[in-house]
Amino acid sequence: MDKAPLQLKIVLLGDAGVGKSSIVLRYVTDSFKTDADGTVGASYMGKIINFEDVMVKLNIWDTAGQERYHSLAKMYYRDANAAILVYDITKQESFDGMIRWYNEVKQNSNPNILVAIAGNKEDLVANENVPPENAITYAESIKAVYRRTSAKNSQGIEALFKEIIFKLHPEI
Ligand code: GDP
Repeated sequence: MDKAPLQLKIVLLGDAGVGKSSIVLRYVTDSFKTDADGTVGASYMGKIINFEDVMVKLNIWDTAGQERYHSLAKMYYRDANAAILVYDITKQESFDGMIRWYNEVKQNSNPNILVAIAGNKEDLVANENVPPENAITYAESIKAVYRRTSAKNSQGIEALFKEIIFKLHPEI
């Protein structure tokens, strides 16, 4: 375990309020805030994970969702290994917004970027507004990983990041 860690850059994208900061907070610190302040620009959190003989350092960038930050977000996803596109399962407009984010990423990122879609706020499934089959069909059409998550109750969060790591580095 004396090798330098494998570095992976992961960026979260999606409209404001879908839960990007909350997903990162849940994954890195295992906590949740109901009154999260909106991210301004972008914020960073690192996490190191030890596998049997590989150490992986995740460099996670959480970007602000507002329209005015789209061009700033480009600086973060341009050289990222993976992008997590987040929408809120209770808001159809956040799903449409996510598709706009994907189209931008596709134009500006490294062509091998791994894309994952997180349908967040799964704990509010009773108020679901985006038909899951639409999300699954869309994810398949862009060859993206699709996961349902809840930053509030942790569902799917760990699995989402694990799947990204293993898809990027199947040898681990
Ligand atoms: P961001 O703008 O995409 O970073 O969204 P935030 O992480 O700031 O979350 C926006 C709001 O949604 C906050 O009030 C969070 O507490 C709430 N939130 C985030 N994730 C979840 C979730 O999985 N379930 C529920 N019920 N609320 C969530």
